[in-house]
This record gives sequence, C-alpha cells and structure tokens, in this order.
Amino acid sequence: MNHPPLPVHVEVEDFPVKDNCLVIGGRTVADLAVGVGQTPFYVYDSKLIAKRINALRESFPDKLKLHYAVKANPMPAVVNFIAPKVDGLDVASASEMHVALGSGMPANDISFAGPGKRPQELEQAVAMGVTVTIESVTEMRRLADIGRNIKREPQVAIRVNPDFELRSSGMKMSGGPKPFGIDAEIVPDVLRELATLPMHFNGFHIFCGSQNLNAESIIDAQSKTVDLALRLTEYAPRSPNFINIGGGLGIPYFKGDNLLSLEPIGDNLKKLTKLASNALPDTSLVVELGRYIIGEAGLYVCRVIDRKESRGVTYLITDGGLHHHLAASGNFGQIIRKNYPVVVGTKVFSDDLEPQSVVGPLCTPLDILADKMPLPRAEIDDLIVVFQSGAYGLTASPLNFLSHPYPAELLV
Ligand SMILES: *Cc1c(COP(=O)(O)O)cnc(C)c1O
Repeated sequence: MNHPPLPVHVEVEDFPVKDNCLVIGGRTVADLAVGVGQTPFYVYDSKLIAKRINALRESFPDKLKLHYAVKANPMPAVVNFIAPKVDGLDVASASEMHVALGSGMPANDISFAGPGKRPQELEQAVAMGVTVTIESVTEMRRLADIGRNIKREPQVAIRVNPDFELRSSGMKMSGGPKPFGIDAEIVPDVLRELATLPMHFNGFHIFCGSQNLNAESIIDAQSKTVDLALRLTEYAPRSPNFINIGGGLGIPYFKGDNLLSLEPIGDNLKKLTKLASNALPDTSLVVELGRYIIGEAGLYVCRVIDRKESRGVTYLITDGGLHHHLAASGNFGQIIRKNYPVVVGTKVFSDDLEPQSVVGPLCTPLDILADKMPLPRAEIDDLIVVFQSGAYGLTASPLNFLSHPYPAELLV
C-alpha cells in the first residue's frame, strides 16, 4: 500500500484515514458530503486552527499581541471561533467589520485597514469606535470631518509604507511606490498635522508582504519595522498603544516548499518586544496573521462527475474548480502552475497510482485542480480533496464566472 500522498507537512494524526476515506474533524469526507447536503464544499477543522494558534503562542513572547486578519477567511463561524483565542481582529471592509463586531471582539481591539475606504465606511468605523488605519493624507482629513459631523472622536492608526522590502515574499506590499500606507519619509509631517486634528492616535501599522517561507527575511523585516516605528514615534502626538508589524508568515503549498520554523522568529520577537517596552513601556507589539492561522485547517472537497480519456490523458471532471478555488487552479494562468496537495478523499491508499488530471466544469483550459498527478484510480462519485485551502479560498475566487452554484462552507 502506498502511503497516502498527503502534503509533507501535514501530520498524519491531523487527517487520519478510516475505511480508506480521509477523516476531517472526526468524520469521513464521505459522511461530511452527505451531512453538508451538497458538493463542492469547504470544510475548516477547528482543532487545527487552535493547534496553529497554540503553536504561535508557545513560540512568541507573552507580551506580543496576536491578531487575526479577517480577509484570509471571513466566514462568521471561523471568525467567532478564532476571536476568543486572539487579542484583536483586523478587517478590510465594513462588512468584515460587522463580522468582527459580531464575534464579541471589543471595538477597540478591531482595526480597519485598506486603501480607498469609502467615506461611508469611514463613518461606519468611527461610529462603532473601531480604529481606522489611515492610508493617505486625504483619508486623515476626511476622518477629521466625519468625526466633527457625527461628534465622535475617530480612533486612528497610521499605516506606513516603509522604505525597505520583505525579501523573498510571495507578494510584496511595501518598499518603493505603493497604494498602501503613507511613505515613511512624509510620516513625520503627517503626524504633525494629525496632532492638530480632533482624532485619537493609537498606533502604527506596517505590513511588508504575504506568504513568506524564509524565517531570516521575516526576522529582518520585523526588526527593521520595529526600528522604523520607534523612530517615527518621536513625531507622534502621544505614545502609541500599539505597533502592528503585520503578518506574512507563509505555509508550504508545493513540493519543495519548506515548513517555516517559528522558533527563530519567536526568539527575535522576544528581543523586539524587550526593545520596544524599554523605549515605550505602554506600547504593545502586534503581529497580524491570516494565512498561517487558517490556511492549513481548510480543505476544498468536490465530486467526480465524469471520467474520460483524451489522447492518453485521463481527466477527472468534477463539480468544482477555478470558480471556487482560484489559487489552486493557478490564478488565471498568471504564474507557472504547480499542483496543490490533492488526494482522492474516498480512496486515499492504493496499490498503484496512475497519472490523472482533475479539472472543473468551466469551458477554459485554466480550470485545473491537479495536472497529471499520480493518484489512486478515481471513478465517478469519488470525492477529490484539495489541502491548504483555508485561506484566500472561497472569498478570493471568481464565484460568478460561468454562473455555477456556490460551494458550501462548514466549520467542524
Ligand atoms: C492581508 C493582510 C495581513 C495578513 O496577511 P497573511 O499573509 O494572511 O498573514 C496582515 N496585514 C495586512 C495589513 C493585510 O492586508
């Protein structure tokens, strides 16, 4: 029997196999499909979410605050589960803010970032007492006007576009010209103006990038970020409540990706929290993570509708695909496509594997979930499982493309 082709980093005890069927949160994927009442669906394992948060807490210093970036997965059940285990929630729209408030997280532990917040969204955040992360001078002045109009003092933070980059990051969000945040070199002037406006300065927000698997470059960016924030603090109207140094801790998706080691990052964060608390005893350091907390806890499940051969290639045509899970399909062909970890959930082990391509129902050659992957022979009605699907999955996909039904979502 071949070992189940699980992703290398997934511990087998996290996803046991019963009657050759993958078990998620104590139930086989076949039972889950019946219980959900439809395929495709996303399923999130609460035990795995808690496990990742515990691992972060164990490696990171006690004084460091841990926030969850709601945009990674805004499903209300997921946010409600995570909220009591973290120190704050970061949102990127008024709708996400409503989900965050609904979790019971106090408004002053919620921050709202993102360029181009509409005036109405700013007003909603001010009325609710959520900290608004200011991304431009225009936004700062708008907030002052809104505060005067609705007679509430806006709670604000400044998002800084630093003058350095996060090395080897999957997605760079800082350094050079960026729509995010205010360029570090003009922040002193902006802070001087802020001091004259009717608003309450809470802190700095500096986020360098996403999906980084290189501990050394994360350590480098976090050290530079704290250093920059401490320098900018000299220009602030008051000592900040927090310095949010962002997220960016990656998870391994593809063969050859290494598992990020938390230990050296935690050791460096211990130094940085000490440094910060010596300089600013009332300021908390915050890290804000999305993908690392939820990415590995989520699976996408779809059903084989047809099996056919075409000139030597076997296609498993499923009811799910690119429209539900853009990242696993390869992001509209913009990157060199690699297979996410995929298994046949209803036939995990097999004596022989054969190359099969898992595709979706869309009329585009880009609708691929697994390209010529060695898998146990799957038949019509077998369930295909895509791992590493908890973050930037359903809400980061073009659900309306070709107007097929939406996937369900379930927290177990
Ligand atoms: C998206 C985002 C995050 C979370 O990034 P992950 O890579 O999912 O950890 C953190 N901070 C900000 C400002 C973000 O926009």
